[in-house]
Amino acid sequence: MKYDVAIIGGGPAGLSAAIFACNAGLKTICFEKLVAGGQMALSYEISNYPGMGNVLGFDLSEKMLKHATDAGLNMEYTTVDKICKLRSGFEIVTKQGSFQTKKLIIASGSKVKKLGLNNEEQLTGKGVSYCASCDGRFYKNKTVAIVGGGDSAFEYVEYLRNLAKKVYLINRTEKFKAKDYKVEKAKTYKNVEIMTSASVKQLNGKDVLKSVVLKLKDKEKTLKVDGVFIAIGHEPDLNFLNFEIERDKAGYVIVDENQKTSVKNVYACGDIVSKHFKQVITACADGARAGNSCIGD
Ligand code: FAD
Repeated sequence: MKYDVAIIGGGPAGLSAAIFACNAGLKTICFEKLVAGGQMALSYEISNYPGMGNVLGFDLSEKMLKHATDAGLNMEYTTVDKICKLRSGFEIVTKQGSFQTKKLIIASGSKVKKLGLNNEEQLTGKGVSYCASCDGRFYKNKTVAIVGGGDSAFEYVEYLRNLAKKVYLINRTEKFKAKDYKVEKAKTYKNVEIMTSASVKQLNGKDVLKSVVLKLKDKEKTLKVDGVFIAIGHEPDLNFLNFEIERDKAGYVIVDENQKTSVKNVYACGDIVSKHFKQVITACADGARAGNSCIGD
């Protein structure tokens, strides 16, 4: 079956695009490799989405998914491995088979950055984590470290301080990228210790993480921890495209005001796009424009 619109990624951008495309009567499919809602589903609480007050990221994700599927979206839970340009339209190759579409919306967000340490992969899920709301419950009354100094790192503090016995926040510089009020709030928590000009040099442990070696200003220090949560940012991943598309220096997709990319009939929305302000609401707005741009274009 050939679709009018295929969306790569079922985060807030992809689901918003789906609502607009489906409401316009376009036969629409969305591919999601992990969980509908994307990063939003993995965030503990969203407190800046109009009309929702403080809502759990997972709950808002469920609502958006229901809205999109009620509108007629065909949701496929599979990884998109390759997208090829055809003479007319595109072929999407997944683990569940191949699909054809006239128009393509890229809403694949970004993937977490890793520290790049030797045994990081081996210890992932065994003490090393990239998601506090997914794995935090395994560290009840334990000692954990959070690596990073941005809003995500401080959101991890909020979540983990209620579970863990002790929380270290390890930041590479003296300054934080996070909003000042979040930093000031974290400083008031008795079980949270903030370490600046500190970076993780080594992860110790064979089958499970035992400690981390920190590089401080003038010395090294071994910190005994049960878990380390890495929150040092994201990077784009578009390896599934078998054609060139215009991108910025960091690899994010360049779009016009209607989310059109440099390739005809390809649109991009949400965190994969080259822009400064990456939030649920901006992802939804991009998605709405992308879905709308597919109508009669
Ligand atoms: P994503 O949410 O990243 O969704 C992209 C989806 O594409 C993912 O589900 C991914 O699995 C899927 N995908 C990628 N590649 C493929 C593939 N090859 N095949 C199939 N599927 C694929 N924003 C706020 O507004 N308020 C907050 O309070 C807030 N807190 C946050 C807390 C944390 C810890 C994090 C990490 C983010 C937070 N954000 C918050 C930011 C917000 O979650 C993102 O800006 C938003 O989710 C981006 O939406 P998106 O749809 O572009 O991408």
